[in-house]
Amino acid sequence: MNNIEIGLPVMESFYTLQGEGYHQGRAAYFIRLGGCDVGCAWCDVKESWEAEKHPRRSVGELVAAAEEHPGRLAVITGGEPLMHDCAELTRALRAAGFATHIETSGAWPLSGEWDWICLSPKKFKAPLPGIVPQAQELKVVIFNKTDLAWAEQWAAQTSTDCRLFLQPEWSRSAAVTPLIIDYIKAHPRWEFSLQLHKYIHVP
Ligand code: SF4
Repeated sequence: MNNIEIGLPVMESFYTLQGEGYHQGRAAYFIRLGGCDVGCAWCDVKESWEAEKHPRRSVGELVAAAEEHPGRLAVITGGEPLMHDCAELTRALRAAGFATHIETSGAWPLSGEWDWICLSPKKFKAPLPGIVPQAQELKVVIFNKTDLAWAEQWAAQTSTDCRLFLQPEWSRSAAVTPLIIDYIKAHPRWEFSLQLHKYIHVP
């Protein structure tokens, strides 16, 4: 992937409520870029993995579609959005008045101009170290108890004002939610992230 390519592969784009993390509940325009080589076993958007399967759309077209809605928060997600150069897209979104948020595993070099970086590190392909102190939000998906130690490993490298979230992996929610609740009560810098969109049935 490189910035010589025209446009960006987009799996889907939609206006909804942010379901997770610090900005949960806010109206947001999501742009889900195709392509991911992280390979999480429990990934719920595996159809995003192959970038070539998704049509390329120009930055102008993407921003125009976002502007059709009143919200001015744009969330770039994937897939792994940093497999692509996000500079042009984020510049254009900001020029149109959007706050630019990204949800990334951090496994590829950071590109783009961001108002909010939500780093969600994955064991399957760890983040590059440079992105960790730049994150405003660290969101770790918990599949089993050992993931809590993994979460702390990354939290130790974040900035002091980075917001920390633990989120149950959807299929394991019943088993791991009690563990997360106990963990947060004992380690109160962490907060609980629920996938609200899956409960209120929005994308
Ligand atoms: Fe799926 Fe995200 Fe993991 Fe990629 S990083 S495999 S899109 S959960």
